[in-house]
Amino acid sequence: MAQLSDDCFAFGGPLLSVEQAVALIGDRLPILAEAEAVPFGEADGRIAAEDVVARIDLPRFDNSAVDGYAVRHSDLRPDGETVLPIGGRVAAGEAPGDVARATAIRIFTGAPMPPETDTVFMQEDVRLADGRVVLPTGLKKSANRRLAGEDTRRGEVIISAGRRLRPQDLALAAAVGIDRLSVRRRLRVAVFSTGNEIAEPGAALRPGAVHDSNRVMLRALLGRLGAEVRDLGILPDDVDEVARQLAAAAPHCDLVLTSGGVSTGEEDHVKTAVERVGRLVFWRLAIKPGRPVAMGLVDGTAFVGLPGNPVAAYVTLLFLVRPLLARLGGANDEAPLAIPVRSAFRYGKKEGRREYVRASIRPAPDGQLDAVKFPREGAGILTSLTGSDGLVELPEATTRVSEGEIVRFYPHALLW
Ligand code: AMP
Ligand code: MG
Repeated sequence: MAQLSDDCFAFGGPLLSVEQAVALIGDRLPILAEAEAVPFGEADGRIAAEDVVARIDLPRFDNSAVDGYAVRHSDLRPDGETVLPIGGRVAAGEAPGDVARATAIRIFTGAPMPPETDTVFMQEDVRLADGRVVLPTGLKKSANRRLAGEDTRRGEVIISAGRRLRPQDLALAAAVGIDRLSVRRRLRVAVFSTGNEIAEPGAALRPGAVHDSNRVMLRALLGRLGAEVRDLGILPDDVDEVARQLAAAAPHCDLVLTSGGVSTGEEDHVKTAVERVGRLVFWRLAIKPGRPVAMGLVDGTAFVGLPGNPVAAYVTLLFLVRPLLARLGGANDEAPLAIPVRSAFRYGKKEGRREYVRASIRPAPDGQLDAVKFPREGAGILTSLTGSDGLVELPEATTRVSEGEIVRFYPHALLW
């Protein structure tokens, strides 16, 4: 596995904004994922490793956009209906023959325009009388004709390197003659939970124990981000054991991700363990929920220690790990789409940090979208994630938000 340089996360400041963190990641980290060629069946959601260039014009030839009759516009009477004999027929996939003057050609959607014809009447707009076609007046020249190259031209870049491929990108690549795409290999991410209290889902719970909920969420979210996840289970609150397992995992993956154990309490052993087997940089991100996050390197592999509280883990995965994976995986780091909505709540917050409030969207009678805050705020409240449509972002400088203000809203559905 490729190695990262020792200083890639180094940062001396006390509190880091999300933008600063993402900029550091972009500046210091290389792309780790090599390119591989894959067929379309494996390409959805993958990252384009190179620009994709059209091999042919699209469409390749002028063709009809409708079922109807192709004519020369110059054969039409300007002042009334035109009646033309039907001089031929061309369906999709056929090559058209020559066209006698002052005739109409029966044509179907996708069929090549017959030579010298330039306009197509929709069949719904004409009448047939005595084997001839009666064409109404007023149709513009070139109507219902698709021009060669109007979609894209041979030689144009149709997909840029770094794009996460969507089904419509695959369709465009196929249309211009491509059958395999060069994409980045999937990043390998090892995931651990930490904590003596953490038990597997479904296990009987000792006094004080809780089921592991972070790991199933993180695994699923990482999968949606295109990673290949190695689930490595639960680490105890024991420095030696954490150090041993992190060191064992690091050589086989591009990122080691943990949740829990990175606060400053004496039962938080993950940072100490990383220091022992690698290099630790501790980032205090100026976001709530989310602080603190441990960043570092173990054996040249990136390490991120997420907070243990589930909502904090969700938010930091989104705003920190997502751009980190984009960088290592060769993807353009596209900031998630924020939608302006109207606050239907009143809320006070501390200055100097960005806060993400869980909210649901309610269409208002005046046509606006109102954001209704989830009633409980704690970073451990899992139902605030399941019972909300997304996150309202309150900027660093904001100290209070009132009903009626426009706020930025990130729908969960657009994030992953
Ligand atoms: P920590 O960051 O280890 O202090 O954990 C903060 C809180 O998150 C504690 O209440 C932990 O029990 C809880 N927590 C940590 N890891 C998990 C996990 N994997 N699943 C559910 N809750 C967790
Ligand atoms: Mg813990």
